[in-house]
Amino acid sequence: MNPPRPASWIAFLLPLILPLILLGAVGLAAAILTLRPDSILTWVGYGVAGLVLLWLGATTFWPARADRACPECGQESLERMDPKTTMGLLCTLCTYQDPQASGWFLAEEEETDLEDLVRQQRQALRDSRR
Ligand SMILES: [Zn+2]
Repeated sequence: MNPPRPASWIAFLLPLILPLILLGAVGLAAAILTLRPDSILTWVGYGVAGLVLLWLGATTFWPARADRACPECGQESLERMDPKTTMGLLCTLCTYQDPQASGWFLAEEEETDLEDLVRQQRQALRDSRR
């Protein structure tokens, strides 16, 4: 049996180590806040936390929308190539087509059951690999 390659070790260990690193960062921030409440690091921490809260608020109250502007003609006429997948875009007013472009945001707006669509896509991908 061959030993696993280093890249697979990293892929295996990262999900185990990353939570500890993040927890350590939170612990370090709490230690700085309690030990040095008036230091510049504290104010930088408040600034970063404020930016995170602003970002959360902005993305909650103004979520992303599908960009339907065609890269060639500029009209709001992009559609998904196939309503059964989230990949592939085409323009209804010109000849623009891109089978590799993501139509995820369009599918998100159009589909009521996005989970079923994703499940069907994954199943089709698994079937094509067999
Ligand atoms: Zn177009």
